[in-house]
Amino acid sequence: MVFDLFSPRLFRPPAEADSMIVRVAQGCPHNTCVFCGMYKGVAYRPAPLEQMLRQVRKAVRGEPDARRVFLADGDVMALEFAALRDVLAALNAGLPELTRVSVYANGSSILAKTDEQLTELRTLKLHTLYMGLETGDDSILREMEKSEVVSDMVEAGRRAQACGLRMSVMVLLGLGGQQRSETHAAATAEAINRMQPRLLSVLRLVPTENTPLWRRIKAGTFTPVTEYEAVCELRRLIAGLELQSTVFRANHVSNVLPLEGRLPRDKAGLLALLDGLLNSDTLDRNSPGVTPLWL
Ligand code: SF4
Repeated sequence: MVFDLFSPRLFRPPAEADSMIVRVAQGCPHNTCVFCGMYKGVAYRPAPLEQMLRQVRKAVRGEPDARRVFLADGDVMALEFAALRDVLAALNAGLPELTRVSVYANGSSILAKTDEQLTELRTLKLHTLYMGLETGDDSILREMEKSEVVSDMVEAGRRAQACGLRMSVMVLLGLGGQQRSETHAAATAEAINRMQPRLLSVLRLVPTENTPLWRRIKAGTFTPVTEYEAVCELRRLIAGLELQSTVFRANHVSNVLPLEGRLPRDKAGLLALLDGLLNSDTLDRNSPGVTPLWL
């Protein structure tokens, strides 16, 4: 069930499909990334605390047996610590069966909280932080105008996990374009290895029409990878991963071949599947291929 204070389209991770959704802020406090169309044209607006708490009370009355909650919108971790703590406390007080609360979280917002604050939020059942690392290459992040640096995101992920939170990290295949595909894959694997997130999701960049990146593609200043190159990039990324215990997913509809497994256990099997695909001569070597219809 969705409990919403605002009207623009609401986004949540696919894994939160069965969670109760409570929107406590509108939009993304950063909203600069040129590839992201989620909140373009939507002003960032956190609700006043009293309004957030009223919304939480309404939500717990509406779904009193909810076990999982996702707080929306973008980077809810950017809320003041006291506001996040009070919202979580109200959810705990109203939902006796609550097991976990999850949010989108940028690296800078996690780093703005102390270890003591992160631990207190975890005690209040904050559980999974969904972070868009996107790439492990700072020059690509700058070009994509994402206001984060790789070392901070890695540090944020490591600190959050040390405080008991679970990191679910997303990376974007194709974000370096044709020119920097290899660098993007190698640097991303290195950053992920340093962070050791418990969940890793690989999505493929699918430019959307209302974004600056779309206009760069039309102007010829950014060349997307072909379908074949996207699979090569994914293979390079997986080959470079040295993970201790991570659930790996590349099963979003944007991916050429849906894949999932556990790393390190399934690494060789995933690489074999990708090798089979690369040798099959079925991939488009001249263009990104067919765009999923709903994107
Ligand atoms: S990618 Fe994340 S941080 Fe960037 S604009 Fe979109 S929601 Fe905001």
